[in-house]
Amino acid sequence: MGYTLSAYAIMLSLPCRINHMANSSIQYRIVPRQPGAHLFEISCTIPHPDPAGQIVSLPAWIPGSYMIREFARNIVWLKANANGQPIKAEKTDKTTWQCAPADGPLTLTYEVYAWDLSVRAAHLDDTHGFFNGTSVFLRVHGHEMDAVEVEILPPEGERYRTWQVATALSRLDAKPFGFGRYRADNYDELIDHPVEMGAFTLASFDACGVPHDVAITGRHNADLKRLTDDLKVICEYQIRLFDNEAGETPRAPMDHYVFLVMAVDDGYGGLEHRASTALICSRDDLPKATDKERSDKYRTFLGLASHEYFHTWNVKRIKPAAFMPYDLTRENYTRQLWAFEGITSYYDDLVLLRTGRISVEQYLALLAETVTRVLRGSGRLKQSIAESSFDAWIKYYRQDENAPNSVTNYYAKGSLAALALDLTIRTATNNGQSLDDVMRTLWQRYGSQGIGVSEGEIEKISAEIAGVDLSDFFNRAVYGTEDLPLQPLLAEFGVNMFLRAAENAADSGGKPSTKAETSPRAVLGVKVSGGSEAKLQNVYDGGAAQAAGLSAGDIIVAVDGLKVSGGNLDGRIAGYSVGATVNVHTFRRDELMQFNVTLQAAPTDTCYFKIPDNEEGQQIERRKGWLGVV
Ligand code: ZN
Repeated sequence: MGYTLSAYAIMLSLPCRINHMANSSIQYRIVPRQPGAHLFEISCTIPHPDPAGQIVSLPAWIPGSYMIREFARNIVWLKANANGQPIKAEKTDKTTWQCAPADGPLTLTYEVYAWDLSVRAAHLDDTHGFFNGTSVFLRVHGHEMDAVEVEILPPEGERYRTWQVATALSRLDAKPFGFGRYRADNYDELIDHPVEMGAFTLASFDACGVPHDVAITGRHNADLKRLTDDLKVICEYQIRLFDNEAGETPRAPMDHYVFLVMAVDDGYGGLEHRASTALICSRDDLPKATDKERSDKYRTFLGLASHEYFHTWNVKRIKPAAFMPYDLTRENYTRQLWAFEGITSYYDDLVLLRTGRISVEQYLALLAETVTRVLRGSGRLKQSIAESSFDAWIKYYRQDENAPNSVTNYYAKGSLAALALDLTIRTATNNGQSLDDVMRTLWQRYGSQGIGVSEGEIEKISAEIAGVDLSDFFNRAVYGTEDLPLQPLLAEFGVNMFLRAAENAADSGGKPSTKAETSPRAVLGVKVSGGSEAKLQNVYDGGAAQAAGLSAGDIIVAVDGLKVSGGNLDGRIAGYSVGATVNVHTFRRDELMQFNVTLQAAPTDTCYFKIPDNEEGQQIERRKGWLGVV
């Protein structure tokens, strides 16, 4: 399945297209009909419907977010009309409609409920509208390769007079940032350009000659100058990374790019597209004019923007063969998400360092947090990142209370595999070659040629560039579950890696302990919700709580007869010695239960790095080659 032309379309469409170029494209029209009720009304006119009865469907998932979401559930009603007469449109499965035969243009009109404030779907209220094409534009079967026109209309009413439109869709008669007509070459392009409408803040900059826009929705007080200055440097670095032919002006693969930013009270996420990204962030993540330095939260935002921008190459153009084309009706399986997400995650912060947005110390602290996060999940010992990629649809994207014990994060562990690969190639070639060369080769041979990357291809190219056999490396790092050999690899680059026990529940690592060595802290081996109730979110495999019979979902009400809350449980437990047995009262459902828990020592899983004081010149040189700075 996919967007292939049917034999019928191939036979008939060519002469037909030439004669009726102007009106042979599929025409969509979208209007925020009732913002208060979160309803978009959409119409889709098909000039030459399938005479046997046109089939239409809405995607079951959106590329970049590997979970079946069944967007058709938000279609409230759908009507079909041909030659001014209503015709039958009957559902044949959860996402598909079969229309009755029609001679002449067919128009489908339908309403979509849009109240999902995420980067993956559609959202509409009195303040703004946002949609991904996968949520609102029906796929016209057999016409997926037809050109498409979209008319985007504002809501009716004076209060919407200041609304504008931000999207990377090509404009037809629409003015810049205006409502009006837009176009796409085919359905795949149509659904890869999310659209924001509202009274957003606009900022623009140029990166290697390509105009970039930033549209920020939501109340905020961002320092737009700092934001665009930082984004420009990050974008230009990435454009040059992929196109570094000497003497040539580096070329970006798109002629316009848009950052669509939704600033909310508390949120974090992004979704990549070929010429734009939709980001959701906390308004505190945006830089303020009063900030003297880049805050940690702003650095997190820049990391997110850098991540999604890197996807412009890695996954939007350098794609797994399994995604060419996407089959939007069902799961698309690949074992390579570790590379498309992991390598992207490796570069997101690395680019911030190489462009001077963060210091070496800050970079190593971020890296230490990633190592710590990976080490804290015993799922890494059961599922390889290749397996995690394959099962993303049912595991990584659908995590339950047992996820830390059973699922490997192919972003975090994938980024460490990318780091290990980079350092392995650099070591084998005396820093002459690196993962940068692997990415450029993938771009030159696959991404820029529109060729999908088959399973195992990234491994072959890496070995070719390293000039050594890397099959053992990949068998362990990607297809196996043992921990990566980061310690010896990093030592060659003058970075010493250490592990220690966490000092408190919130300690995610990153900074070496300043405390003198103390005896290890006693822990229950659980993750507990904060707040007034000590509800167990996760119970870790092999931990004290699991051994005693406690379960995720249990609410701990007392330890040794004293009331506890989500806020003080860890501290209360830390007051005991390792090996002590405590009496724990919990509610499971509405039943009071009692357990004797023998406390364990906090595991030694918190990573930190140090650059040695008296290091050799060779290590400094190697580190400079890797990080771009000393
Ligand atoms: Zn990503």
